[in-house]
Amino acid sequence: MGVGVIDSDAPGSYSKKIMKKLSCKDLGSADCNFVATGATNEEVQQKMFAHAAKDHPEKMATMTPGQIQQSAQLMKRLLDAQE
Ligand SMILES: [Zn+2]
Repeated sequence: MGVGVIDSDAPGSYSKKIMKKLSCKDLGSADCNFVATGATNEEVQQKMFAHAAKDHPEKMATMTPGQIQQSAQLMKRLLDAQE
C-alpha cells in the first residue's frame, strides 16, 4: 500500500489543494481503472460523466434518467465523504 499522493507535499500547502477523487470502480465498473479527480464535487462528477460517455457509451445508453440520477447521488455521497 502506501499513500499515493504527490511526493512534494509541504505540510502547509496541503490543505488548500485537496483533490477529490472518484474511481470508475466505485460506480460499479470493476474492470475499468479510470479515476476522476477535481477540486469540487461538480468537477469530479463532470469528468466522470464525460469519461462514461466516452468509454462506456453502451452502459450510458441503457441507463434511464432515474439511474443516471442515482449514480449522480452515489457520486455525491462518495465525494461528500472525502471532505
Ligand atoms: Zn470507466
